[in-house]
Amino acid sequence: MQLVRQKGKLRAYRARATLAALVVAALGSGCAAEGPGGAPSPTGTATGRSAQKGPQAQGAQKPEAAGPAEALSAYVEKVRRSQKARAAAAKKWGLAQTPLAAPPPPDAKPEITTRKGFEVEGGEGLPPVFTTVPTKEKIVFLTIDDGAEKDPELLRMMSELQIPYSAFLSDYVINDDYGYFEKMRDRGVALHNHTLNHPYLPGLSYSEQKREICGQQDKLEKRYGTRPRLMRPPYGNYNKDTLRVAAKCGIEAVPLWAAEAFPDHMEWREWDRDLHPGDIILTHFRGKEEWKGSMPDMIRRVMKTVTAKGYAVARLEDYV
Ligand SMILES: [Zn+2]
Repeated sequence: MQLVRQKGKLRAYRARATLAALVVAALGSGCAAEGPGGAPSPTGTATGRSAQKGPQAQGAQKPEAAGPAEALSAYVEKVRRSQKARAAAAKKWGLAQTPLAAPPPPDAKPEITTRKGFEVEGGEGLPPVFTTVPTKEKIVFLTIDDGAEKDPELLRMMSELQIPYSAFLSDYVINDDYGYFEKMRDRGVALHNHTLNHPYLPGLSYSEQKREICGQQDKLEKRYGTRPRLMRPPYGNYNKDTLRVAAKCGIEAVPLWAAEAFPDHMEWREWDRDLHPGDIILTHFRGKEEWKGSMPDMIRRVMKTVTAKGYAVARLEDYV
């Protein structure tokens, strides 16, 4: 039994190697018909272990004892079905185009170093601070901060569209409804640290920062069962103490962002005002009172930009 499973895994692994080309062939016309844009994009071809994650991922663990060709065609069929469901969801939720499927995650995570100009003096060996994940794939990552707005529509929308995202949570805005983020976690979303009270960290002493960061580590672990590996400092501001404290209580990386999404526009860090492979996109849990739209409005807007530029949204935790 164990051996059969191992063989199946190996087969699945080998199948992945030739996947991109075969999926292109298999999906070809179907894909083109699904998006209003028509032509299948290069990133629309490879697809989704990310799509298989979550509660519906069971099929992936039980490879059938069929030949490689059958295994592959079963996989292609699965991808096709998944993309078809996504096209229907895109229509339902009013997206301009069907989101592109992300390629399978890398077998090994890339080595991430601190972005040039973002180093702290003597910060070698501390968690890296970066705005873009090193990759050649046309993928970006979606991260949502704070946690004030708790829109149940967002949970449904993202699950149906199969768009991965990561949440960076501050206790002072989530503490009126921890259950919302429990539902989010149950849908496969990773919950990360954004401090207890969202302070300007460089203005705090080492021990005050420790309370803010490690205190939130403890809270999130207690509430949601997993100790976060990622932390984002409020406003993107940090100093050496921030990174030292973070490392001490289990933080491995400090992802900032390359672009920020709003319901009516994007803001860019780079001079070219464009997306790049591996860019991290920041947005917030906000409602109509705080900005010009709902959470679904914001998602429609950011996905319009991401998909039109030929990018797929991948799962940050597969790369970091
Ligand atoms: Zn924030």
